[in-house]
Parts: sequence; structure tokens; C-alpha cells
Amino acid sequence: MWYAKNVQTVASELDVDLETGLSQKEVEKRLDFYGANEFKEYKKPTLMKLFFDQINSLLIYILLVSAFIFFIVGEISDAIIILVVILVNACIGVIQESKAEQALEELKKIATPKAVVKREGIIKEVPSQQIVPGDIVIVDAGRYIPADLRLIEAVNLKIEESSLTGESVPVEKDATTLDQGGIPLAEQRNIAFMSTLATYGRGVGIVVNTGMNTEIGKIASMLEISKDTTPLQKKLTELGKTLGIGSIIVSAVIFFIGFFQGRDVLDMFLISVSLAVAAIPEGLPAIVTIVLALGVERMIKRRAVVRKLPAVETLGSVSIICSDKTGTLTQNKMTVTKIYTGDQIFPLSSPVLEEPIYARIFEAISLCNDAVITKHETTGDPTEIALLEAAKKLGYDKQILDQQYKRVFEIAFDSERKMMTTVHQNNDRYLVMIKGALESILPLTSYVMKNGENIRCESKMIEKINEQANKMADEALRVLAVAFKEVDCETMFTPDKLEKDLIFLGLVGMIDPPRDEVKQSIAQCKNAGIKTIMITGDNQKTAFAIAKELGIAKEQPETLSGSELDRLSDTELREKVKFTTVFARVSPEHKVRIVKAFKANGHIVAMTGDGVNDAPSLKQADVGVAMGKNGTDVAKMAADIILTDDNFATIVSAVEEGRNIYQNIKKSIIFLLSSNIGGIVLLFVAIFLGWPAPLSAIHFLWINLLTDTLPAIALGLDPNDPDIMKQKPRSIKETIFAGGSGAFTLLYGVLIGLLSLFAFVAGLDAYTGSQSIFTIDFKNVDKDALIHAQTMAFITLSLSRLFHSFNLRHKKKALTEIGLFSNKFLLLAVIIGIAIQVILVNVPVLNKIFEIHYLTAIDWIFAITLSIVPIIFSELEKAWKRVFVIN
Ligand code: ATP
Repeated sequence: MWYAKNVQTVASELDVDLETGLSQKEVEKRLDFYGANEFKEYKKPTLMKLFFDQINSLLIYILLVSAFIFFIVGEISDAIIILVVILVNACIGVIQESKAEQALEELKKIATPKAVVKREGIIKEVPSQQIVPGDIVIVDAGRYIPADLRLIEAVNLKIEESSLTGESVPVEKDATTLDQGGIPLAEQRNIAFMSTLATYGRGVGIVVNTGMNTEIGKIASMLEISKDTTPLQKKLTELGKTLGIGSIIVSAVIFFIGFFQGRDVLDMFLISVSLAVAAIPEGLPAIVTIVLALGVERMIKRRAVVRKLPAVETLGSVSIICSDKTGTLTQNKMTVTKIYTGDQIFPLSSPVLEEPIYARIFEAISLCNDAVITKHETTGDPTEIALLEAAKKLGYDKQILDQQYKRVFEIAFDSERKMMTTVHQNNDRYLVMIKGALESILPLTSYVMKNGENIRCESKMIEKINEQANKMADEALRVLAVAFKEVDCETMFTPDKLEKDLIFLGLVGMIDPPRDEVKQSIAQCKNAGIKTIMITGDNQKTAFAIAKELGIAKEQPETLSGSELDRLSDTELREKVKFTTVFARVSPEHKVRIVKAFKANGHIVAMTGDGVNDAPSLKQADVGVAMGKNGTDVAKMAADIILTDDNFATIVSAVEEGRNIYQNIKKSIIFLLSSNIGGIVLLFVAIFLGWPAPLSAIHFLWINLLTDTLPAIALGLDPNDPDIMKQKPRSIKETIFAGGSGAFTLLYGVLIGLLSLFAFVAGLDAYTGSQSIFTIDFKNVDKDALIHAQTMAFITLSLSRLFHSFNLRHKKKALTEIGLFSNKFLLLAVIIGIAIQVILVNVPVLNKIFEIHYLTAIDWIFAITLSIVPIIFSELEKAWKRVFVIN
């Protein structure tokens, strides 16, 4: 019952010095003893389970039944081959699955929250798993509580405990000891529970339990990275079903045609099974999974961590990126450059320091400040760090000031109020220090400090202050107003009493330069049909000045402020957003309306966010993007993607990667489908014409599951198309058959099928001794000649499909332009495919098992010549497109 023990008892029981925290050595010892601060891993699927998952599909059952029937009718070698192919394919599937699993594991590591601890007297951020009992943890708004904590300090701390108690209204916490036992979790006010969320204020606590020993550890399971299926995967499952049903229908049709032609029933059954095998792209789901997983890995390298798989696809369709300004478009390295007070602006480098008013400003910005600058480390909000650094430069040391004027009360900054207030003991009185946006502070101001005196703030003065603020903002400076007042009793410590009748001290202007790479990324977005929108809590003029510099906005009317936005109805806003590129002085709530308006106009919106209140807009956006460095845990958990460098340019890279991943998956799918159509055409036409079957089930299985699989995966790994960001975003409604892909699939399927059929007929002609292909007696083909001709068809079908994979690399560019060697995996896959076929045909045992025939050099040349026809055809088609088709 930690809540019933006082702070000293807790500290001594856990053997920790409250001033310095644990030593690193002690942490390591405890880590060994207590284990990492995490929940027990959910059971990873065993290899055996993964293997059986692979086999657990309708198609495999059909194949097993077929193998059984082959076995019964004495076709032992066919039965064995089917089993071997199922086995090999399942093994490939297991390897792919575990690779995908591994990639997702990595993601989980990156996405776990960090915690701020005090160890050896130093405040630092560590991964939450490394927290041990006895650690001193600092919590602030937006952070998840990393372990069960007994609070030793709480300032306006509010924690949302819904994950534990189901109660979604945040509860207020304090550090007072509760003097009775048996208090339910929801009422343990001095305990902060693991996985709950600090929504307001800040606090400090001692870790009392970690990992499985925490309250949530006892009841909950790990927050897992979502493995939702992507829209494409869903569509593919649908397509798989359609193909399955389609192939059964076509198989039945073939069966009956054969039956009425008077063929052997068993023969016809086997041919029908062959057709079903030929029609279904068995490897497709596994290939899509692996390409997605590898794509996600590539994105991590480009500093974008995908939390929700479907986002990878949606990224490719993004047409609007709404980005925060501070830190994402700018460097978040703020430096105070100008101060306005006592009627003049002066640069920080040469301030006029005689008047008491200057001293008060620097005291205020040091005291009303939560940043920490030590020899070792600088932590805190960049705005506050900049203020501290400026004060320090002029000889104001926060540590000394903090001792002199002890902080006794505070109202934390939040982006809704856009200001922060602290109260400090000053002998028997209290100093109230306030800093924030000018719009927030000016209405609360009654006096202005001038020549050491407080004079009434009149409208003329207000005009002047605004004028000076605008001047600074026009120079792209972020402007903060500073004010103070004095009160003499604690009963005044409420927001409405503290934050009124303020004495205005001055303005601080700080520069936050744009990130170097962002301008280029914005231009790149423009080329790619993506509009960049700036959303910021900052002043309208500052925002516009930076937006102009970055190429986001051209004219001032393109900006809209939060208060203007409030006056618009949803319909009006829909119209307004068409011409707005900068939203300034907006609060997180506005962001939701902005996203909705863009979405209502048919856009696919990516939205960035970092704050506690950004979660709703991140969820509302099609792709929610959170900041990995400066973002709160809430924002990260609500996002689809986390940027590990908080950089706008990374979003653009992620969009590019998303487009490429989609394009590559599409290549794999179209490749497999067109190849399979080739098989269907070959078999269907032959049976329809009353000819013997050109291939048997095992031949189709072999090609579908082995020789086709490698090029399909290799296509999924095709290097990024450098022109992908010159295209418009893909419509979210677009199917994989859009843009001529349906026709392409059919055309090449038919071509490959007919070429293989031609090889078959030519084989029959050569080895039945007929006069010409027109005089072949299909009804009485001798077995040896048939096997020979089937081998010709088998080789032509497999090689033409292998070569056809090159056709999918680009819609328009010639192979010479893309570079034959630029996808080494594909080249290797094709070489392996060819090698397998050569071995099969030339090794006597194999060729007996597979019922194929040794081929002569002429046969090989003939088959290869036919197999490269699709490439020649495709190169001609692309050349034609390059000349005559603009898009
Ligand atoms: P963005 O939304 O682009 O990240 P931002 O960081 O300027 O912009 P907020 O952090 O919401 O947005 O800040 C809004 C305004 O609040 C700022 O323009 C500034 O005037 C004021 N402000 C920011 N930080 C502080 C702070 N620590 N204390 C007091 N006022 C602050």
C-alpha cells in the first residue's frame, strides 16, 4: 500500500536519494533483479504454427486431395511432386512471414515511449523499459506514465486513467499521503499508474512497481503494433475469392467439354485440377505481405516509422499535407534576437540595461520557465530554452533566481491558452510572472511599465505595442509578450484572479529559421500534385513570413486565423480552405475542422501533430503523422506514422516511398495475374479444340509456386522510380487494374498463352512426323511425342513468364533506360528460374519424374525465341507510348 506511506518511508524502503535519484550502477543491478519494465511478450508464433498456417488454406486442401487422387490412381511421382511443391512453398512462406514479423518487432521497439528520469542528479530521457523500482520519474502533460509511481510532487497534475479504470475524465493527482488502507485504484490520488496518461500539469514520482507487477501489468496485455490488413490486402482477398470461384467454374466447364468430347473421366478430372492450379496466383498474399514489410523497413531507414500498415498505401494517395510550423518546417532552434520594451526595439546583442524594467523582463522569462540548462544537458521546450539562453547571456541565472524567488504556484502553458503563469515568493508578497502570445496577454493587461512606473495602458499604447509586434512578426520572428504583477495573499492563487490587471513589460522576438531541406521538399510536393498547408499556433504575420520564404504562400490573403475560422460555418470553411495555405493562431480543436473540410473537398489528408490535444485530428486525418522527437506519447499513439527526426522532408520521403511500395506491389500482382492467364489460355484453348492437354497439373504448380514466385518478390523490391514524384497522387478509389493495367494483364496473358500453345503445336508437328501443323492428328498422338511437345510448351510458358517480369518494371521506359542491372534481385530470380528449368530438362531422373523430355538445341532456340516475343512486343509498345501518349 504505497499510497498510505509517506514520501520518506517510500524513498527509504526503495533505497533512493530523492535529490539525486539512483546511480547508474544501482539501476543496472535492479534491472538484473527486477527485469525490464515491460509486459511479458505475447507468445510469438512457433515455426511449426507458422508452417501450419501456410498449409491451412482451401487451395492447399484441394492440392492435397489431388495428390491423394493421383496417389490412388497410381501416379505416384505426380503425387510426390505436389507434396514437395506444397512443402517448399510453405517453407518460403514461413521465411517471408518471419521476416515480416521481425520487421514489425523492430517497429515495436522504436515506437515504445520514453520516460524522463533523474539519475545521478541528472535529468535525462531513457526508454521506458529501462525504468526500475526506486527511479525518480518526471511526468508532464502528454506523457504516458512509464511505471506505477508514488507521487512526491504534483503541480496541477491531471491523469487520464481510462486504460485502467475505464473513467475517461482525467483525475487530479497530488502527493499527500492517504492515511487509510483498502482504497480502490480510482481513488489512490498519490499514485500514477503505468500506461495512464498525464493530460495536464506536471509531477515527480518514485517508481514503486514495474512491468508485470504494475496494476495494468496485472490485467492488461501489451499495446501491440497494429497489423491491420491494408485496403489492397483486403481487395486481394476479395480478388482471391473471385478467382477461386472463377477457376472452379472454368474447371467445371472444361470438365464437361472434355466429358462430352468423350475423353477419359479421370484424365478430365486431372486436367480440371490443373486448370484450377493454373488460374490461382497461390503466392500472391505472401508476396504482398513481404513487400509491405520490406517497404516498412525501408521507410524506417528514411526516418518514418509506420505504426499502422494501411497507412503505407494511403500515403501514396495523399494530396494535402497539413504541417505544423515549429520544428517540422522550421529548425526549432530558437534564438532571441530582439526585445521591445519602454518604447523601443533593441537587438539582444546590445541591450540598454539601466532601467529596472529590463531586469524584470529577464527575471520573468527565467522564472516563468520550465527549461533546464546545465553543463551536461539542455532540456525543455525550445521557446523556453531560447528565453533562458538570452537571459543567461545578460547575466540572469535561472538557478539563482529560482532560489531567490521560490515558485509556489503555476498555471501550465497549453496551446489552447497560449500562455503560462507562475507565482513566486518575494518576502511576504508574491510575484506573478506571465508570458505568452500577445493576443492572450494584451486583453489581460491594465498597466504598462515605463521608466520604473506603472502607468495605465491606453488604446494608443496598445496600438503601439501591436505595431511593434507586427514589425517583428513581419521579419518572421516569433513574438512572446511578458507581463507581471504582485499579489499579497494565497487566496489570489486562481487563474481568474492571477491573470488580470497585468503590468505589461515588453515583447521578446525570436528567430526560428526554416529547415534547409524543406523548401525543396515543398517544391517537390507541388510537382507531385500535393499541396502543403501550414498550421501553426504562432502569429499570422510570423507564419505568413515563413510560409512565403518556404514557397507555401504567396499573398497575405491566403492566411486564415483561428478566430476567423471560428466565424465560418463548415460549408463556408470548405470553400475557404480551397484558397488558404496558412492557418495561424489555431488550436488543436481547429485542426479537426480543417482536416474535415479538406476531406469533404475530396482530398486525402496527411496531418502532423505533436501535442496532447492533437490526437483527434491525427485520427481524423487519412494519415496521422506524429513527431518522434518532440511529440507527446498521446500524439504518437494516435498516429499512423511517426517521424523520428520531426522533419517535413521526411513526410515527403514517406509519401514517395508509399507511392513506390504501392507501385511495386501492383507490379507483382499484375505480373502473377497476367502470367496465370497465359496458363489458362494455353490449357483452355487446347481442350476446347479437342487437343491433348499441353501441360499437366504438376507443371502448372511448378511454374506458379516456384519459378514465378522469385521474380514476383523481386518486382516488389524494384528500385524507386525517380519520376514517381512527378505524377499526380493516385486516387484512393483506383483499383489495381486502373491505368490500362487490366488490358495489359489480358493482352500479355493471351500472348503468353498463345506462344506456349504454338510451342506445343510445333513440338507435336516435329515429333509426330506430320506434314505440317495443319495436318497433325491430335486424337492419336503417341506418348513420347506428346511429352516432347508438352516439354516445349512447359519451357516456353515458364521462360516467357520469367522474361515477362522485365516488362512490368516500367510502363513507358525502355529496359535500356531503366538498366537491366538496376534490379539485381530480378535478374538473379530470372537466372535461377532458367537454371531450374535447364536442370529439370537435362537431369534424367528429374525429367522422368516430371514427365518431360530432353530438348535439342533447336528446340531450346525455338522455345527461347518464342519466350522473348513478349519483351520485344512490350518494348515496341513502350516506344509507341513514349512517342504518342503524353501521360
Ligand atoms: P506549431 O503549431 O507550428 O508547432 P507553435 O509551437 O507556435 O506552433 P504553440 O506551441 O501552440 O504553437 O504556441 C502558440 C503560441 O503560444 C506561440 O506562438 C507563443 O506565442 C505562445 N507560446 C509558445 N510556447 C510558450 C511557452 N512555453 N510559454 C508561454 N507561451 C508560449
